Amino acid sequence: MLASEVAGAEWETASAEQLVRWTAERFPGTSVFACSFGAEDMVVLDMIARGGLAGARGIRIVSLDTGRLFPETYDLIAEARRKYGVPIDLVFPEAGEVERMVNEKGPNLFYDSVEGRKLCCSVRKVRPLDRVLKGAEAWIVGLRRDQSAERSTTPKVAPDPSHPGMYKVSPLSDWSWGEVQRYVREHEVPVSALHSRGFVSIGCAPCTRAVPVGADPRSGRWWWEEGTKECGLHAAPPSLTSRLKSYLDMPQLNTIA
Ligand code: SF4
Repeated sequence: MLASEVAGAEWETASAEQLVRWTAERFPGTSVFACSFGAEDMVVLDMIARGGLAGARGIRIVSLDTGRLFPETYDLIAEARRKYGVPIDLVFPEAGEVERMVNEKGPNLFYDSVEGRKLCCSVRKVRPLDRVLKGAEAWIVGLRRDQSAERSTTPKVAPDPSHPGMYKVSPLSDWSWGEVQRYVREHEVPVSALHSRGFVSIGCAPCTRAVPVGADPRSGRWWWEEGTKECGLHAAPPSLTSRLKSYLDMPQLNTIA
């Protein structure tokens, strides 16, 4: 039923506000907005809050607290809670998994290897997100097509292959960075203080740095790595995913290399 709705409804011409409202009404109580508190996500949060769409009978707003976020991100979380007055659930990784990983591989394992970095992202982001999305039917994200080559074909609404049975809604997929900034100004949306210091895409503090004006927006993420700049929330090679899963399921930590 939903597939025909999606196919026939010409989602590509729907506005971001329409898509956010549609998600809340089509999946009441079973839709989730995963908010990273970057400018795009603040725009979506503003749309949800202004539309009265947040909460148990609408869209659940969650954010993954990896434990390695910037202080500015925590400031913004507090400000968003004050301004919008909507529930924002912070979701944490499993303490035992973090403890085991850090003790075996070090607190900054992400600098040692790509696999170490992906393990950290899996423990601190992907697995907590999977827990949050259990039972949900749709999730909303703030992806934009011009953020990277990997995101250049992001549909506005599509089944999510990483979460079978679930739809992924990207209401801002056809927005430019300029449109994001304009919305922020016009609606007085609070954004991270980091944006004015050259941080375009904001993630964990040890893995994000400012980029020069005009540079690839994702180039400040895991800048020491070559190639794809994704943490696994939106793309995860199946072979690596299954290897990480095996690692995490082992009672004794050995190695994933
Ligand atoms: Fe770990 Fe860096 Fe991924 Fe954050 S972005 S979860 S610190 S590897």
